[in-house]
Amino acid sequence: MTSHSQTTQATELLIVGAGPFGLSLAAYAGQHGIDYTLVGRPMEFWKKHMPRGMYLRSACDWHLDPGNRSTIERFLNLRGQTPADVEPLSLQFYLEYTQWFQEQQQIVALPAYVERLDYVDGDTYRYRATMEDGRVIRARNVALAVGFKYFKHLPDDLVALLPAGRFSHTCDLVEFEALRSKRCLILGGRQSHSNGRPSPPPTGRGSARSSRISPTSRAGSAVCLRKSRQRWGSAYGPRAA
Ligand SMILES: Cc1cc2nc3c(=O)[nH]c(=O)nc-3n(C[C@H](O)[C@H](O)[C@H](O)COP(=O)(O)OP(=O)(O)OC[C@H]3O[C@@H](n4cnc5c(N)ncnc54)[C@H](O)[C@@H]3O)c2cc1C
Repeated sequence: MTSHSQTTQATELLIVGAGPFGLSLAAYAGQHGIDYTLVGRPMEFWKKHMPRGMYLRSACDWHLDPGNRSTIERFLNLRGQTPADVEPLSLQFYLEYTQWFQEQQQIVALPAYVERLDYVDGDTYRYRATMEDGRVIRARNVALAVGFKYFKHLPDDLVALLPAGRFSHTCDLVEFEALRSKRCLILGGRQSHSNGRPSPPPTGRGSARSSRISPTSRAGSAVCLRKSRQRWGSAYGPRAA
């Protein structure tokens, strides 16, 4: 397998982003003997922007290895576990799997951000990536696997109606403890909604209500509004009686 040290200055394939797609692509490139360089902080989005205590929608048959070797099932096998022991998969379990996957596939990421990417006409290495620390990596090909955090969206017309400090985007809301005993309205009906919906508090007080906000809603635009012991008004309709 090709070596991928931090001193790499030129590469056949620069992979930007070390989330599931970047790691999977790095494994695939390594398995095909392609010289690659992976940059990004491994699984950063999952570590920083997923709800604590979350369970995945994906099950054990979903894994990162295009070569079908470093699968979740193999990982379980080595730990003496079966899918029934771990499903539904927790965020913590999934992060442990991705760590093991990197070790198995000998994937070493350069843990830094690409700040700028230029196309250099006429150069054999057509792309020039400038890292946040000023280091430059030249590449013949670039694969962007930067995920969707850049698409975080709070509709202006909705924000204009909401009191400051009383709402958050699910991309930033990863701790739910502060919401205990509070009633929340969850807007948006996609992944963040289903994975991010807090469990009902044990006191029996509080509630979670869901509503789609089409047509202005987009993927990743779930917004959690919170209000303590008061009745909810609807951002798009009349106040609840
Ligand atoms: C609450 C929630 C639950 C989900 N559950 C599931 C599930 O069960 N199953 C499933 O398949 N999918 C699930 N998803 C979707 C999941 O997030 C995506 O499938 C997956 O993370 C996409 O992987 P990715 O590598 O494209 O993006 P990301 O995981 O976002 O990774 C992109 C990486 O690129 C890095 N990056 C960004 N910009 C740069 C830069 N300039 N330089 C270097 N690095 C950079 C980021 O730090 C990040 O680590 C869920 C999503 C949410 C929000």
